[in-house]
Amino acid sequence: MTLPRFAPLIAAVLISMACSTASLAQMPSHHTEGGFTNPHAERPHSGFFGIIRARFGSDWQSYDRERDIVPVTEPAPATADEFANATVTWIGHATVLVQHRGVNVLTDPMFSKYASPVSFAGPSRITQPAIKIEDLPTIHAVVISHDHYDHLDTASIRALGDEPKYFVPLGVGEWFVDKGISPERVVELDWWQEHSIEVDGEQITITATPSQHFSGRSLTNRDGTLWASWAVEWSDFNAWFGGDTGYNNLQFKEIGTRLGPFDLGIIPIGAYEPRWFMGTVHVNPKEAVLIHEDINARQSFGIHWGAFILAGEGVLTPPVALAEAREAKGMAEEEFSTFAVGETRHYAPLKKVSSR
Ligand code: ZN
Ligand code: ZN
Repeated sequence: MTLPRFAPLIAAVLISMACSTASLAQMPSHHTEGGFTNPHAERPHSGFFGIIRARFGSDWQSYDRERDIVPVTEPAPATADEFANATVTWIGHATVLVQHRGVNVLTDPMFSKYASPVSFAGPSRITQPAIKIEDLPTIHAVVISHDHYDHLDTASIRALGDEPKYFVPLGVGEWFVDKGISPERVVELDWWQEHSIEVDGEQITITATPSQHFSGRSLTNRDGTLWASWAVEWSDFNAWFGGDTGYNNLQFKEIGTRLGPFDLGIIPIGAYEPRWFMGTVHVNPKEAVLIHEDINARQSFGIHWGAFILAGEGVLTPPVALAEAREAKGMAEEEFSTFAVGETRHYAPLKKVSSR
């Protein structure tokens, strides 16, 4: 047998290690003896054969680079002295730069070609990061949703080094120290724990909030570390970053009640087909709209599409399905839209405080 015959199988395994389902027990809390669990999810399909069935036994849309053109534009990140509006740039996938009042926050930095345990193979980018990692402004805080390869990337973290403070879910801190990051630069939090930092007199508070997902960077270490979404609060502006999540009708409502309303929701809308396999751990655009409503966001935009092919829907399907979900509710486009990769938008804070 020649290597090309194995290639689809190898690709399927590497896709599974970037993002797929896991074995989860139903428990009342998210802490268990053997790791973490989703308190409000049915046990999803799992294991190697599920991955193979999802990839080869389903209606998996093929990617056509001539046809499936993801919109891309030039980013325009904020300069240090812009205080009036928050400046938000979609760098690609789940990597978003949120800048406000001189504090720059980066979500799930992923600047590498492959979302994979190896640097030369696996799900590869179809669009490039809109800003090169070396061209980023000073990053004061990084939030990490979980340890899957498309959200936690070794080369990206090594390049950022000790400059930012890293906010990570329980159990993920050790990975950072292993990669050479100083322990004092890592803040490891459980759901609902918060930590504040101050940058030139501006304090921001970052709170780990629940999500419905799973974790693991190999086929043998499932759910040993926690997954989270994140609320980031400035003095006059707040944003919520969903990371990677499935839907339930409890956790996001609780986030909205306890920490909402939010000026901006950053919500995943991609990697959701086939539903029998992905449904528990990745929302579809219809569920993303429910999250937007549950967390009580004034405006949201959709991430986790257009960079890596991790699931069976077409590359350009998530924004189309989002528009359908919006229309079904009579929701205006500006309330929950998508960006071009690299697009920068400005959000006026609801709460007005002194601007410099
Ligand atoms: Zn994931
Ligand atoms: Zn993901």
